[in-house]
Formats: sequence, C-alpha cells, structure tokens
Amino acid sequence: MDLNRLVEMQIAFSREKFPQFWEIRDGRDLALRLEYLTNALAGEVGEAANLVKKVVRGVVYGRGDVRLEDVREQLVEEVTDVFIYLLTIAGLLGVDLEKAYFQKLEKNKRRF
Ligand SMILES: [Mg+2]
Repeated sequence: MDLNRLVEMQIAFSREKFPQFWEIRDGRDLALRLEYLTNALAGEVGEAANLVKKVVRGVVYGRGDVRLEDVREQLVEEVTDVFIYLLTIAGLLGVDLEKAYFQKLEKNKRRF
C-alpha cells in the first residue's frame, strides 16, 4: 500500500466521523482547520517526547525507573498518532506526500 492511499483512507475516515470539519468554505475555514491539526500534531509529538523524557531520566540520569520496554507500546501509539495527523494534514493540503518525501530526500542527500 502506498502513502497516498493511506492519506485517502485517513481522509475518508475523518470525513465520515467529522463531516463538519470538512465543510471548508473559504481561506479562513482552511486556516482554522490547519491550526487545529497542527496543534493536535504538536500535542501528539509532545506526548511521545514526554515518554522519551521519562526513559532518559531513568536510563541516562538514574532518576526514576522507566525503561523503554515499559513505554514502548505507548510510544508506538503516540508515534502512530503523529503519523495519522500528518496524513490528515497532507490530505487537507492536497499534498502528494510520497512525491514530496522523495523530493525532500533528494534535497537532504545533497545537503548532508
Ligand atoms: Mg496520543
């Protein structure tokens, strides 16, 4: 399954579950939808980072006993939430995410 198919599936799911969200009349509505999704994305990144913080606190600094194995399942769930919001944002913007990825990969190959 390719990435753009995942975007389509996520958008179909979101449209079915949250039809009002997808009633976008103008640039203002679009900006507000983007604001919501980017905030939600940041929230999920924060949830993942918080778990990693607890692991580092324990494993690196010896303050606490949280190990990666303890939070791995939760971390995978948060990373998946991040991915879901990325798919949704790509769908909202109408981005060909796979093409954009390969373009950026080439750019990064030249850069690093
Ligand atoms: Mg989450």
